[in-house]
Amino acid sequence: MLTLLNIQDFLQESIKGETPLSPDLIDQFVEDCQTSIEKQMKRQKGEWRIRMSGLGRPLCQQMLDKKGVHEDMEYNAVLRFLFGDITEAILMFIMRQAGVKVVDFQKPCTLEIAGHTINGTLDVILEENGEIKVWDIKSASDWAFKNKYAHGYEKLLEEDPFGYIMQGYLYAEAAGYPFGGWLVVNKSSGEVLQVEVPSWQDDKPAYLKDAERRVKYLMNPNSKFVKGYTPQPETIKVKSEVVSTGNKLMPKECGFCGYRNHCWPKAVLHDKVTSKAKFPPKVWYTTLKTTSL
Ligand code: SF4
Repeated sequence: MLTLLNIQDFLQESIKGETPLSPDLIDQFVEDCQTSIEKQMKRQKGEWRIRMSGLGRPLCQQMLDKKGVHEDMEYNAVLRFLFGDITEAILMFIMRQAGVKVVDFQKPCTLEIAGHTINGTLDVILEENGEIKVWDIKSASDWAFKNKYAHGYEKLLEEDPFGYIMQGYLYAEAAGYPFGGWLVVNKSSGEVLQVEVPSWQDDKPAYLKDAERRVKYLMNPNSKFVKGYTPQPETIKVKSEVVSTGNKLMPKECGFCGYRNHCWPKAVLHDKVTSKAKFPPKVWYTTLKTTSL
């Protein structure tokens, strides 16, 4: 937690205007922002390859990526990616100013997994109390900050649709240091969290084994695309009896997925049929037989 304390102390002091700012670090921040803008606004779709940052994502998404299926992206995705990169640049600037010991940052790394070379770029390596660890920087929505990251590593273990834990362990393995966890910035409130991987857990071997299984599957030319999720029948309780509406709800994961139109071309976005709200929320249905009750 030392890094978090350093960050908080520095920011608290900066409110009073008592923090001398280093022109070199400001220059570095500007350079980091420029790199982000060039990366995100001049995106080039290169040849498909497995990256450490994506290997823990659902295999169905990775298989479609491999097949070259078009992934739908709204215009706001570019802004989302930029927010992420620039938030990271801001945090790096603050950490350097705050005197956090940055051993390395934006470090390209490589691992041999199942006979294949897998590349990645880790965010930052920090030294805290003489211990050197790999850390990942995340910018989070207010909801994710409060409902996911604030509950620590255990909560991420329960649900990790973007494969952040595997990503961290792969970077750590490649760098030869333990994985410390995540430094998370709340994009809405500006709060910062240091989510530590508990020192008592021993999850890394299982994640590395799973990474190997995933690489084998993805690199096998005979592997077939299989949808990773199944629609759930929509039900409602009528006088303590559970009754089906005949509709099927799209799996939550697919609702946010860029391949949604590919996997569920007949899906319909409709008012939630079972909702009694005056303005029902919209939900995706893969099957919509009943439009009102
Ligand atoms: S839409 Fe669902 S099944 Fe299809 S790739 Fe995305 S997550 Fe997987």
